[in-house]
Amino acid sequence: MNVKALLLASFLASTAAPALGQEPVFNPEAVRAHVTFLADDLLEGRDTGSRGYDIAANYVASQFIAMGLKPAAADGSFFQKLTVREARLEGTPRLTLTFGGKDTVLSDTAQVLVRPSLTDSGVAVEAPLVFAGFGFDRPDLGFDDYKGLNVKGKIVVVLTGFPKGTPSELGAHLNSDKAVMAMKRGAVAVIAVPTIEDTARRPWARRVEISDGPAKGWVGSDGKAFSRTGAIKGSATLNPDAAAPLFAAAGKPLAAILAQADRTGGRPRGFDLKARASLTFANTWNDVVSENVVAMLPGTDPALAGEFVGMTAHLDHIGDHGKTADKLYNGAMDNASGVATMLEVARAVASQPTRRPVLFAALTGEEGGLIGSDYLARNPVVKGDVVGLVNFDMPVLTYKFSDVVAFGAENSTMGPIVAQAARQAGITLSPDPMPEEGLFTRSDHYRFVQQGVPAVFMMTGFAGPGEKAFRDFLKTHYHQPSDDLKLPFDWEAGALFAKVNYYTVLGLANGAERLRWYAGSLFGKEFAPKAAKAADPVK
Ligand SMILES: [Zn+2]
Repeated sequence: MNVKALLLASFLASTAAPALGQEPVFNPEAVRAHVTFLADDLLEGRDTGSRGYDIAANYVASQFIAMGLKPAAADGSFFQKLTVREARLEGTPRLTLTFGGKDTVLSDTAQVLVRPSLTDSGVAVEAPLVFAGFGFDRPDLGFDDYKGLNVKGKIVVVLTGFPKGTPSELGAHLNSDKAVMAMKRGAVAVIAVPTIEDTARRPWARRVEISDGPAKGWVGSDGKAFSRTGAIKGSATLNPDAAAPLFAAAGKPLAAILAQADRTGGRPRGFDLKARASLTFANTWNDVVSENVVAMLPGTDPALAGEFVGMTAHLDHIGDHGKTADKLYNGAMDNASGVATMLEVARAVASQPTRRPVLFAALTGEEGGLIGSDYLARNPVVKGDVVGLVNFDMPVLTYKFSDVVAFGAENSTMGPIVAQAARQAGITLSPDPMPEEGLFTRSDHYRFVQQGVPAVFMMTGFAGPGEKAFRDFLKTHYHQPSDDLKLPFDWEAGALFAKVNYYTVLGLANGAERLRWYAGSLFGKEFAPKAAKAADPVK
């Protein structure tokens, strides 16, 4: 992300109305209270569809009641119910690669990881294999990996991630669209091979661990799981060691391709692998009912009654895996800390109503693939538009942070508002220090971005003790049972995180003009092509 544009754009910040009246006080003990409740073992890791999640949802609803917020669900309650499908593999999947005149059968998770299907109970595809580099089909953006390839009715083999040196938000966006691009080209299945960088960050054994558990998606009123890639029958990830012989038989050593992809700007060209594959697996489904907790605060300006500012934080985590001694994944940081800070921002906003109305949502199904947010973004509960969104996900509250990273801010007129909010909170803004993680597409705000809504989400920054604390958390506690109340929480950091987000929400909700994407923003062009745009800030 371009933080220079963000900082310079802050000169325009006079359009963001300052807070009126008293400045709210953010109480560290209030943040602590929420996290202490939500991350307790009694909530059993808040898995979507579980009793623990429902208790957490009740807790958030009762907080909303205490703040005087209005229920926002269609039935007059605080709960937008949705059905979430969990798909698991039944039996052992089989990937048979046919090359060099013989069949190689792969079925062990050490070799191949097959994603269960939410839309087909049984899958059997058999087709030729084509390698398509990173699998990006966007010549308009300078990515032409399908050039000269015919993949209609075929299985596409792609590298994970995006070319090194690609701006992180662009790379993350295109990466999240890889299967859609393959589908539009007529492919029937996608097999991904991890890059060197990807394997360094996420060794195969860790990938196996993460893939344990069901695939999830929301079910529409027609009883079918919603899918953007229905024509892609199968998706799998192939261990590079298992993929190497396939590439060798085509006369293209995988090691050389991976080495090329590991260089800045390296983009391996696609080719026909002169091989076939058959992928066979069966799925069992379990449908559970879960809920987004939704509340709203009316605005004070009737002319802006249809312009909602959204605040979201996912309430679910990954539950009880039952394998290790401490088998509960409490998700204290992921995302009890985000819900806790969102609640404290909500309390402050509710005590001092804003010109625009505000929608608050504690979301289900984030860990299963941003499901609750996708459902809410596609099935709005308010009459009007969400004109801008602030998401709270996993602020690492173990250190006194002095900077934040504001993902997405430089894409819209939110930029100057966020810059102003940071100044008011006495902290600085920093560029994305981990572009390779593609964080912008990995949390709930992205589902709203895909519906054309400008959004921002902040992470605590790397300045001072930040980098060590943040990396330690990611390496040792992220999606582990140890993400629990024993972490060295700094509740003052929680109060500060609430503060900077509060000023942001206030700036959005009281701003003179409706938020707009900047003309140069990729996301504005991709997802809100018809919306009026703001002139790009002067760089
Ligand atoms: Zn998570």
